Amino acid sequence: MGAEGRYWNARTETMSRSEQEAHQWRLLHAQLCYAYTHSPFYRERWQARGVDPRAFQGPEDYFTQIPFLSKTDLIADQQDHPPFGTLLAVDPKALVRLYISPGPLTWGFTATGYRKFAEVWAKGAYVCGVRAGDIVDVTAAYGWVPAGSLFDEAYRLIGAAVIPGNVGMSDFHVEVMKRVKVTVVQAFTTFLATLGEVVKQKGIDPRRDLALRLGIIGGEIRSEAQKASLGDPFGGIAIREQYGTAEIGIIASECEEGGGMHLNEDFLVEIIDPETGEHVPPGASGEIVTSDVVREAMPIIRYRTGDLTAGLNLEPCPCGRTTPRLQRILGRSSDIPRIKGMFIIPRTIQTVLARYPELGRFQIVVDRPRHQDELTIRIEYTAPVDVANLTPKLVEELRNAIRVTPQVELLPAGTIPAEAGLVDDRRKV
Ligand SMILES: [Zn+2]
Repeated sequence: MGAEGRYWNARTETMSRSEQEAHQWRLLHAQLCYAYTHSPFYRERWQARGVDPRAFQGPEDYFTQIPFLSKTDLIADQQDHPPFGTLLAVDPKALVRLYISPGPLTWGFTATGYRKFAEVWAKGAYVCGVRAGDIVDVTAAYGWVPAGSLFDEAYRLIGAAVIPGNVGMSDFHVEVMKRVKVTVVQAFTTFLATLGEVVKQKGIDPRRDLALRLGIIGGEIRSEAQKASLGDPFGGIAIREQYGTAEIGIIASECEEGGGMHLNEDFLVEIIDPETGEHVPPGASGEIVTSDVVREAMPIIRYRTGDLTAGLNLEPCPCGRTTPRLQRILGRSSDIPRIKGMFIIPRTIQTVLARYPELGRFQIVVDRPRHQDELTIRIEYTAPVDVANLTPKLVEELRNAIRVTPQVELLPAGTIPAEAGLVDDRRKV
């Protein structure tokens, strides 16, 4: 656990892929056996299918025999068996921390499980570049939910000084950054943008007045350009992304090389087709599924996150870490429309439109006016365009990319309301 140096755990982070697979399986298999032995929820669920993980030989047994777990399963279990559900694998007296998530869902942790969970978050922060001696402003929520307190634990495990800033009060955050010489800010993407606006409004010279060097973000981000622009008001600080959920923690974090977020090498992560549940081809887009391997109180096994990723970057990374890099999160799988059997991934459309600098924002509209789904892509232009010529050209290029023929509407900039969602699926109404 080097407080200095390049890696949090040099041995596991730089293992060969085959060593990593063995490492992941060792951790996962132990957790499967633990869950089977200690959690009535898993034991009953698996026994009903004739599954006993103690007999598993490798990941293939896990893929073919362990059912997916959804948030709905967790909520139903707690509702049927209050307060902690049959999933609880320890004596309730051993719980030292309880989080209350929307659902509602209560997350219990033992002391050991909590420390290990915090280490998962710490490793992620370390990958992003946080080091001992940093001063970190945490802008995540500290109340009820895990985010604030776990980021807090994580940064302190690394040896940084943490300001428990909490959400909101953007002016005060900026004032504190200036006064205390904060070096790292942890924020949701939209809040970091808000803080950037405050810096500009106050006429703060980031190079003279601030000591910020790194922003760690989570949440929706549209493009590399948008990401870079987040750092601009702070004097062009590095911006690194993380991916995680309350159920499984931070499982992917971006190193200084970019190109996606390194998966935490302790977790066996699957990318599945959300409709069939089958693995997608290597690198293809799909829903993220994984199991936690550290929790004692409430193990989370083969959890469907509901988040769609653009895929995994399998190229070796110059930083020396050997895990694949998780590509951008495209959205909730329930929010990505499927038309005539095809996912309409906003990023794919964005890639096509990026070839045309005169085009700006777009919106995907799905409707079923009669008996057939119709896809319309509304696109704003920011400079004069030849609508009659460009429209059929875009229809052709988009059809090649998404394999569904869309209608294209070219509109002057400002036509799509600022608050409009990227996807407007009118079939649901
Ligand atoms: Zn890397």
